[in-house]
Amino acid sequence: MKYNFKKIYVQRSIYSDFIWRANAEDIIKRFPGAEIVEVESHWQIPELFEADASDWMRTKREVLVLGIKSGLSHQKNGRSADFIAASNSNGCLSSCQYCYVARRKGGSNPLTIFINIEEIAASIRKHQNKLGAKPEPNQCDARFWTYDIGCNADLSADSFVCDNPGFLVREFASMENAKATFATKTVHDDYWLSIDPKGKTRIRYSLMPQKVARYVDIGTSPISERIQSVNKLIDAGYEVHFSFAPIIVYDKENWKQDWRDLWREIGDTLSPKAKAQMQCEAFFLTHSAALHEINMQWNPKGEEFLWKPEFQVPKKTAPGTLVYDYNFRRREIAEFEKDLAKYLPFCPVRYSF
Ligand code: SF4
Repeated sequence: MKYNFKKIYVQRSIYSDFIWRANAEDIIKRFPGAEIVEVESHWQIPELFEADASDWMRTKREVLVLGIKSGLSHQKNGRSADFIAASNSNGCLSSCQYCYVARRKGGSNPLTIFINIEEIAASIRKHQNKLGAKPEPNQCDARFWTYDIGCNADLSADSFVCDNPGFLVREFASMENAKATFATKTVHDDYWLSIDPKGKTRIRYSLMPQKVARYVDIGTSPISERIQSVNKLIDAGYEVHFSFAPIIVYDKENWKQDWRDLWREIGDTLSPKAKAQMQCEAFFLTHSAALHEINMQWNPKGEEFLWKPEFQVPKKTAPGTLVYDYNFRRREIAEFEKDLAKYLPFCPVRYSF
């Protein structure tokens, strides 16, 4: 995957520190043709908020932001991981139409890389040292405290732009009590296979039927490539799980058959070693009217799958967010898991909603 940024916004204070500056320059020199624009803060770039939504993909492809992560805290989670680690990037090079990350930063939310990666890693190391050994297994992991290091981005996509993802994986390899985890839709085997994670990183490939992914997972790797990558990553010392998400209901019955076809492909592709360690998470789509309006300006085709107002209702805890009707979800997730157990009996569900 090749990126050719035309403009790189650089948070000015990066130049006040020797290491930050060196890290930023390492990235900048990969894109020699880019115009460098200094800004006070990576959050305050008015042009990004003013960008026309119809220019969504162009902004994604042409703009990169380099910033400093302040507020190095690690939030309790309990679903994808025990903790959500302080971000090392936000925004994303991909453009999944349902992405919640896109709701936080204006325009098309281009990638922001945080260049103080050494501080971020040191802060995680300190946090897990303070916790000590995990006292008992939970659904996040049997042995280690797990930290989601890619909650606001796709780290495998970031690895085409910088070495932050690899730096963190190498750091986790030597942390006594902690394991890294991140969800991704981008295959970058050459990169990940050049690192020894020592079993301390869990990659979670997000999967959905290709028939839908081609319209809503814009800029990501094809589903079959993600599945084929699993055996290689396992052999290289990673743990790999699946995130069957978001589950999108686009018609009355076919959506279920499409998932069964996907599970059949997985069952036929994974090695015994991959199957032996496989687990998954599964959850339904969340959407919003505001995101729907934006999406209609740059990819209306995708909204034919996502926008189903006849059975999307406001989420009780976040009324601006739309979810499928509660009774429908309760019934369908139970059926989904039953079906999954039939097709992929080796793949327990870590959590679902
Ligand atoms: S890969 Fe993840 S972070 Fe990136 S656009 Fe898709 S859902 Fe959002």
